[in-house]
Amino acid sequence: ATLVFLLLSPSTTTTTSSSSSVAHLAAVGLVSRQYQSGGAGRMAFEEGTGGDSVIVVDNFFTGRKENVAHHAGNPNFEMIRHDVVEPILLEVDQIYHLACPASPVHYKFNPVKTIKTNVVGTLNMLGLAKRVGARFLLTSTSEVYGDPLQHPQVETYWGNVNPIGVRSCYDEGKRTAETLTMDYHRGANLEVRIARIFNTYGPRMCIDDGRVVSNFVAQALRKEPLTVYGDGKQTRSFQYVSDLVEGLMKLMEGEHVGPFNLGNPGEFTMLELAKVVQDTIDPNARIEFRANTADDPHKRKPDITKAKELLGWEPKVALRNGLPLMVQDFRTRIFGDQKQQQP
Ligand code: UDP
Ligand code: UDP
Repeated sequence: ATLVFLLLSPSTTTTTSSSSSVAHLAAVGLVSRQYQSGGAGRMAFEEGTGGDSVIVVDNFFTGRKENVAHHAGNPNFEMIRHDVVEPILLEVDQIYHLACPASPVHYKFNPVKTIKTNVVGTLNMLGLAKRVGARFLLTSTSEVYGDPLQHPQVETYWGNVNPIGVRSCYDEGKRTAETLTMDYHRGANLEVRIARIFNTYGPRMCIDDGRVVSNFVAQALRKEPLTVYGDGKQTRSFQYVSDLVEGLMKLMEGEHVGPFNLGNPGEFTMLELAKVVQDTIDPNARIEFRANTADDPHKRKPDITKAKELLGWEPKVALRNGLPLMVQDFRTRIFGDQKQQQP
C-alpha cells in the first residue's frame, strides 16, 4: 500500500484557527480522491480493501481539523499535529508538500515564519524523501512570476519579483523551495514534481481567509459591501479546487518533473469577479473601493499548454459553475442550518 503523505500549513504562535489555505483545500481534496478513485494504482480507501494509507500533517495555523473530520474513523487515515519546520521521521512513498499559508494576509502575518516554512520546511521534507526514497511533489505558486512582464505566464518565464518587498517571504520563499527541489533532484537523484498553483477557490476555504473570492462571497452573503482593492482592473485567473486536485495527482503519477502551471486560464478583473458574485448571490451587493496592497501583481493568467500536452490535464469547472458550489458551503457555515430561511 502506498503511503501518501500530505503536508499542510505551518504553525505560528498565533491561535488564528478559523482560516484555511488553498493548500489545505487541495490536501483535503487529495485525501477524498484517494478514498474514491480506483484507477491508476489508487485503490478504494476502505477498510479491508487495502489501498493507500494517508497521513496528513498539519499544525492548524490556517488549516482546520473539521476539514478532514469525515475521514477520522478510516483505519488508513492518520493525522499528525506537526510543524514541518521541525524534522520528522516517517515511512512514506509519496509526499505532497503543500505546507505554507497561501493567503497574503496570512503569509505576511509572520513573514520570517513563512520563509522558514518554505526553506527549512521544504529542506526537511526533501531530506525525508531522500531517506525513504519517496517521490516528492512541491506545490509552488504563480507568485514565482511576481508582477509578470509576460502575459500569459509560461513556465519558461523567470519572473519579475521584488526580493525585498512585503510579498517576498512567500514568492522568494517558494522560488527557493523550487531551487532546493531541483538541487535534490540533480544532486541526490530524488524523484521530484513541481506544480505552480494559480489562484484557487472552493468549499471549506476559510470564511475570513482574506483572499478575494472568499471575501466577496462572505461579504455578499452577509449583506456587506464587496471590498475592491485599488481600481479593480487588476486580473487573476480562478481555478476550482477539484481541478487543482486532479492536476496534482496527474503530476504525481506522471513521468514529468515540471514545473507545470496548474490554473484556470479564464481571466477576470476584480470588478468582473465582483459582477459574477453579484449575479450568483445578490445583484444589489454594493462595491466599496479600498487602497490596494504593496507590490500587488497587475495581471495573472496561466499558459497551460505544457500541462495539457504532457499531463493530459485541463480545468473543467468555469468560475460561474464553481462559485455556486462554494457559496452553498459558505452559506451553511455562515448561517448554520437555518440557511434555507436566509434571503
Ligand atoms: N530530515 C527529516 N526527516 C528525515 C530525514 C531528514 O526531517 O527522515 C531532515 C533533516 O533533519 C535535515 C533535512 O531533512 O535537516 C535535510 O536532510 P538531508 O539528509 O538531505 O541533509 P543533512 O541532514 O545531511 O544536512
Ligand atoms: N482583492 C480585492 N479585494 C479583497 C481581497 C483582494 O480586490 O477583498 C484583490 C487583491 O488586491 C488582488 C486580487 O484581489 O489584486 C487577488 O488577491 P488575493 O489575496 O485573493 O490573491 P493573490 O493573487 O494576491 O495572492
